[in-house]
Amino acid sequence: MSRTLVITNQKGGVGKTTTSVNLAAGLAEAGKRVLLVDLDPQGNATMGSGIDKRALTHTVYHVLLGLATAEQAKARSERGGYDVLPANRDLAGAEVELVDMERRELRLKAALAQVADQYDYVLIDCPPALGLLTLNGLVAADAVMIPMQCEYYALEGLSDLVNTIKKVRANLNPRIEIEGLLRTMFDPRNTLAQQVSAQLQQHFGNKVYATVIPRNVRLAEAPSYGMPAIQFDRACKGSQAYLALANEILSRAQAAQAARATAS
Ligand code: ATP
Ligand code: MG
Repeated sequence: MSRTLVITNQKGGVGKTTTSVNLAAGLAEAGKRVLLVDLDPQGNATMGSGIDKRALTHTVYHVLLGLATAEQAKARSERGGYDVLPANRDLAGAEVELVDMERRELRLKAALAQVADQYDYVLIDCPPALGLLTLNGLVAADAVMIPMQCEYYALEGLSDLVNTIKKVRANLNPRIEIEGLLRTMFDPRNTLAQQVSAQLQQHFGNKVYATVIPRNVRLAEAPSYGMPAIQFDRACKGSQAYLALANEILSRAQAAQAARATAS
């Protein structure tokens, strides 16, 4: 059965796309069949996967509007070893065009249901906003992954996001849960980062991933070569951290499965 994770934070530049791309590549390397959905008109996850966003005839925009199926729109990240439902600027119009459509929050969920059996993991990279696109991501997902930088305003933004997730659970998607909070661009020498990190652990306990993503320039360089960092420079600290994150997610899933088996 496939598991769908939505990677979201309405704050910009916190590492959502870097996490989506490298986690997709990490899970693919572990032998999992992965689909990465780019739900951001910036198309960064598309380009970072080595797919030219300007050369696409079908994108996630066409899928959301019912003009193409996910099967027709998907592309292959050869370097990453996973499939991508790509995006480009067309998607910017979707928020407006979807407003008058029926079941507008459920359109991604319906489209993904048709390809779900081809994948073990579906990862959804969201834009930095809590609009209709992100809502489609939250409705389609089993769980939310929240990348965040450990700085003062991060916690404030987090409560808005947690409230949105609660509303989605009450109205649109009863199974949604927080899969985990990921500390990104972490600098252990920064005292504030350590304080915020400690507060996060206090509030969210083991929902905070043990894996921490360090600030590492190689992670920022990889997208300009159109490949995940773990292919670009496997040995760098950033790549190693994302490989560790993929392992942490797989062992958590295994533990959850074992717990369910014992309970039944
Ligand atoms: P947006 O909200 O615009 O979609 P985002 O949350 O997807 O942004 P990214 O695009 O992943 O964030 O990262 C923002 C910038 O920081 C990018 O230039 C990226 O290459 C860089 N970056 C991400 N993670 C790291 C890291 N751990 N170390 C150094 N640079 C990083
Ligand atoms: Mg992004």
